[in-house]
Amino acid sequence: MVESLKAAGDYENAIGILNRLIIDKDPNTPPRQFIFQMYSDAALHSIEKRKIEETKMRLLQCQKCIPTWENHSKCIEEDDVLDFYILHHCEERCPLAEKLVRLLTQSFFVKFNVTLNADDCLPGRTISKYYKETIKRANLILFFYHESPLTSEDNDGILIERIQEELSMGSENNVLNVILGDAEQPWRHPAVVLPNDFATAGEEGKEDAEMHALEGHLILDILRKTYELQASKSFQPESFSFEQNVFE
Ligand SMILES: [Zn+2]
Repeated sequence: MVESLKAAGDYENAIGILNRLIIDKDPNTPPRQFIFQMYSDAALHSIEKRKIEETKMRLLQCQKCIPTWENHSKCIEEDDVLDFYILHHCEERCPLAEKLVRLLTQSFFVKFNVTLNADDCLPGRTISKYYKETIKRANLILFFYHESPLTSEDNDGILIERIQEELSMGSENNVLNVILGDAEQPWRHPAVVLPNDFATAGEEGKEDAEMHALEGHLILDILRKTYELQASKSFQPESFSFEQNVFE
């Protein structure tokens, strides 16, 4: 029944039934893969229809299906959870990297806790230690690449390159590349490709709706890639449960 409602494009009722099964811990609840697929298809549908409140709810539902956030269900808004650690090797204050940070921290849909490079490192602290600890604390590590970066050969740049190299050796299931334009991807991680208008989106004179669509697509894409990454590497088909509040 859920399937046929979905096929008819009636996501609202399909998800209503699905949420009821989850809340009731019904033995007929479909597997996580099905549920995630449903929420993410519904999110895309809402983004395309420019229904922003609905998009927000769907994206939160997607997020809760992902192992890395599942255990943080009660503290998603808490400060000590670092959702994304963005590592970018470029000039000292890269406007594109800062835009990515802004987009993820101030989005209308989901406000993530994000840190870029050593921006939050307190004075007097050893930088390499800071990187190490922050990597451990982060739910997801995003390596950001764009075309023709202004390569800085300072210590930070060298350090980031070394971290990238190290993380590429292991089988980490929390590393994604974020790519803008024709940037090269030196390391093999799944990639989220930013739309070409990323650099100009949200500038004055542009409509809010355009920015919302960009944010919605970006967040959905990151959530989808994260899900695939974790489903393929650490997925356990154990039964799982949600906090009820997100589904009402
Ligand atoms: Zn840059």
